[in-house]
Amino acid sequence: MKRSHRIFAALILAVLIFLTGCTGGGAREERTFFGFDTVCSVSFYKGGNQSVLTRCEELLQEHEWIFDRFDEDGLIFAINNFAEPVMIDYAVADCIRIAKEYNELSGGLFDITLAPIMDMYGFGSDEPSVPDEEMLKVLLSTMTGMDKLQVDESDMLIKPFGVQMDLGAIAKGYTADRMRELLEDSKVRSAIINLGGNVVVMGDKDGEPFSVGIQYPFEADGTSIAAVLVSDASVVTSGIYQRYFEKDGKIYHHIIDPTTGRPADTDLYSATIITDSAAKADAMSTVCMLLGAEKAMELIENTAGFEAVFVTNENEVIYTSGLEGKVTVTK
Ligand code: ADP
Ligand code: MG
Repeated sequence: MKRSHRIFAALILAVLIFLTGCTGGGAREERTFFGFDTVCSVSFYKGGNQSVLTRCEELLQEHEWIFDRFDEDGLIFAINNFAEPVMIDYAVADCIRIAKEYNELSGGLFDITLAPIMDMYGFGSDEPSVPDEEMLKVLLSTMTGMDKLQVDESDMLIKPFGVQMDLGAIAKGYTADRMRELLEDSKVRSAIINLGGNVVVMGDKDGEPFSVGIQYPFEADGTSIAAVLVSDASVVTSGIYQRYFEKDGKIYHHIIDPTTGRPADTDLYSATIITDSAAKADAMSTVCMLLGAEKAMELIENTAGFEAVFVTNENEVIYTSGLEGKVTVTK
């Protein structure tokens, strides 16, 4: 789809997502933008004004410039193609640090160096394809692995030439956190930020929690399978239905298992994580997809401050014990 067409389709979808995504309704101020190849919106219920919304839009554009690795004028593109150690932006350094934490926590499954593998599939291009086994093996043994990225105390990145970062599993969550800080500084007390399924809820709505919808996998955007009640939290969903292609009756989705170079063989359609930081929720939601239902449930039940709602590949909705009484299955 041409970019102009995409923006048009996105604006129509935005209305639907808002209606089913968050049953807030009656926002004092709201704005929808297109960024990170998806629909984004910010809605205020208490405090805030139009100029804050403009600053949110500028922040989104700045972070898109930083994180879009396909933008030849962008920052990650430059870093990825630089041969020497390079001084990196604090936002990139921060994301690499968070990524290292989740790489360790997942036993190496969460890996931001899979860009060359992603490129072999060509997700989102007009002609995606299934890469050859030998090619994947060579790339995995020479070009990937988070031990190849080193950031020192002064935010200098040292990496071998050819190692390329893809921060797609964390960038939207990280940006949502920065947007929340911007709103807090502007004395906004009640708001919803939604960056394509990376939702940050600030405060509550007239003393009641907000209800955030969870997308029904493979159904039209804006159709929810469940809703969760939250106040002051990040609610981030990662799913295999967002970006995939089909070949010979098989689905090739965009969450890659770094041990095989193939789309993760997971029994989850989606993982929604609820915690205080959207960047961490974003990374953790991808980790859960990679682990599969049983291990993901065990991990989140044993991680303080995190809750989860999972949709299995049979469209069953399961959630952690801390969410008892807060989840409604709506399908
Ligand atoms: P979305 O971006 O659709 O919200 P995710 O947060 O799960 O979904 O991120 C998926 C993206 O993460 C992929 O498009 C790719 O850029 C990147 N990615 C794929 N596999 C991995 C992995 N094993 N570890 C970290 N990032 C990954
Ligand atoms: Mg993620």
